[in-house]
Amino acid sequence: MGYSGFRVIKEGLFGQKGWKPVWRDPAPKAEYDAIIIGGGGHGLSTAFHLAKEHGMTNIAVLEKGYIGGGNVGRNTTIVRANYFLPGNSEFYSHSLKLWETMEQDLNYNVMHSQRGLINLFHSDGQRDAFARRGNAMINQGDDAILLDREGVREHLPYLDFDNVRFPIYGGLYHPRGGTARHDAVAWGYARGADQRGVDIIQNCEVTGIDIENGVVKGVQTSRGAIKAKKVAIVVAGRSGQVAEMAGMRLPIESHVLQAFVTEGLKPVIDHVVSFGMGHFYISQSDKGGLVFGGDIDFYASYASRGNLPMKEHVMDAAMTLMPMIGKAKVLRSWGGIMDMTPDGSPIIDKTQTEGLFIDCGWCYGGFKAVPGSGFSLAHLMATGNHHAPDAKFRLDRFRSGVGLIDEEGTGSQHNLH
Ligand SMILES: Cc1cc2nc3c(=O)[nH]c(=O)nc-3n(C[C@H](O)[C@H](O)[C@H](O)COP(=O)(O)OP(=O)(O)OC[C@H]3O[C@@H](n4cnc5c(N)ncnc54)[C@H](O)[C@@H]3O)c2cc1C
Repeated sequence: MGYSGFRVIKEGLFGQKGWKPVWRDPAPKAEYDAIIIGGGGHGLSTAFHLAKEHGMTNIAVLEKGYIGGGNVGRNTTIVRANYFLPGNSEFYSHSLKLWETMEQDLNYNVMHSQRGLINLFHSDGQRDAFARRGNAMINQGDDAILLDREGVREHLPYLDFDNVRFPIYGGLYHPRGGTARHDAVAWGYARGADQRGVDIIQNCEVTGIDIENGVVKGVQTSRGAIKAKKVAIVVAGRSGQVAEMAGMRLPIESHVLQAFVTEGLKPVIDHVVSFGMGHFYISQSDKGGLVFGGDIDFYASYASRGNLPMKEHVMDAAMTLMPMIGKAKVLRSWGGIMDMTPDGSPIIDKTQTEGLFIDCGWCYGGFKAVPGSGFSLAHLMATGNHHAPDAKFRLDRFRSGVGLIDEEGTGSQHNLH
């Protein structure tokens, strides 16, 4: 079923009875050409691109829960291409270009809104670092504008510019950055993949990976064994657990990241604002809720909820930056499990098992990577070669130490993230 303005009007006139489920609910087949473990944004996007660009349609996406139940439906929806280091810079640049055509490619409204992102700075040293980052973004072909204090005030007049600890010196403005509706992205890719013949199988947990003589043969699941010559592990926060089924120990720690939303308010914040020094960022959803978050909770966990000290820290930073927020009531908070790598950059690679691929390590930034990651992993699975923008996302960089992409500037230490 195609979507159009005409269709919306027609359904409105005839009682909304013509809509159909947007993907099938097939039973697993005994064998596929490829299996994607994990029906999050990255897994669904991979299946979509395998079918669209490489004509591979005998594929199953196996999801232990329901589509949209993982991090793809839990994030704060920020989409941007303002990475600094070679390796990340070209990858996220490519991913943002795919975002810009996603709604047409999927024929699905994901509410992608390029409302602009402003990263604030609060010292001369930080200004220099952001000027450098902005130049790197422009060299990459993306957009960046260095704003002084008055330039920020024009966009964000409601901030506290004279906070004693964090006076605002200026900001790096990335006009093409913005937000999208997170679960619509999962639904759009699920629909697009299903339309091309991909089986999306929910409530199907992978419990084992079958390997013979170093070659992958298929998977064991809660709904029986399924054979495949190619299998990809795309399970975000569960990467360590699923990789262990193939005898792999990944350089990944799973940490909780929380987010918050207030009651619906009239439009007040029309950008994404990031206050890195205080560990706080915010945007306003189309429903009016202020959506905001901070840093990870800094302990390894598989719980999809966080602890009170981080909540207090985030609220404290919010009040520092924009005291007016104290009048809003927080409606909900939630958490997701982040797959943190030591250098803050992801992994898209083959493994030591023939036919077994892995896509993980997206830390707290993998939503914006959904189209680029799916495109790249599909390319790797179909052709055996890396697509140029993801060529540096190699797994062995953590063993050899060569090619680390230390985006966070923290050194290869998890607890400094
Ligand atoms: C609070 C929060 C805020 C965030 N904010 C942003 C942001 O603003 N911008 C941004 O770019 N990123 C953000 N992120 C990060 C982003 O959401 C993740 O990096 C990204 O969604 C991870 O990829 P995914 O969508 O494929 O993950 P998921 O949606 O988690 O998909 C993985 C899937 O694998 C399934 N699975 C696990 N084990 C198995 C198994 N054994 N068998 C079958 N299926 C299995 C899971 O059920 C899950 O559905 C945020 C994350 C959180 C939690």
